[in-house]
Amino acid sequence: MARILVVEDEANLARLLRYNLEKEGHQVIVCSDGESGLEAFRSRKPELVILDVMLPKLDGFDFCRVVRADCATPILMLTARKSELDRVLGLELGADDYVTKPFSVRELMARVKAILRRASKDDGRAVMRAGSLELDLDRHEARLGGKPFSIRAKEFEFLKCLLQAKGRVLTRDELLERVWGYDESMEIDTRTVDQHIARLREKLGAEARRIVTIKGVGYRLDLGG
Ligand code: CA
Repeated sequence: MARILVVEDEANLARLLRYNLEKEGHQVIVCSDGESGLEAFRSRKPELVILDVMLPKLDGFDFCRVVRADCATPILMLTARKSELDRVLGLELGADDYVTKPFSVRELMARVKAILRRASKDDGRAVMRAGSLELDLDRHEARLGGKPFSIRAKEFEFLKCLLQAKGRVLTRDELLERVWGYDESMEIDTRTVDQHIARLREKLGAEARRIVTIKGVGYRLDLGG
């Protein structure tokens, strides 16, 4: 079971989340503003953050940006307004998933489960490699020539999917489904995949050539050399 940080200033909602997450066996840390949330994030190292957007002191957007600067810990955002959702979906923040308030507890718990499942080492192999590129599933860390580099949770998942496919072509739809999960991927434009891949390539330096575009279809990882 996981250690989960809930950053939510609505006391009733925070209580409801704590109750349901603990019922599933998770360890829950609750903070009611962004600043104490960030402190708890650094000291307690949670495996998942459930993050409200509108928060006192430091809002969810800034929280996300700070965390993402050097960490790929999954973040599930709680948004209350369409305008917030637009920004979450703007992808620049690097949130892994979102739910819109009001949401059903059942839906939220399903998302939590899916995120934790994706983040866990589910193929039994802790470190995957292609050339000088390494993906450490245990530590949720990506390395080039042994040196860790900053990678977002979604980018990590893309890389993992490509590595697991062992050179097989993955279609954009396949990638969407495997990285985002459920039928929710139906609502996300497949261009999103291209955007993530483009950003990923920028980070991979000389190994970027391994991600091969199959025009009109999708991507594969070149494992040779
Ligand atoms: Ca709030």
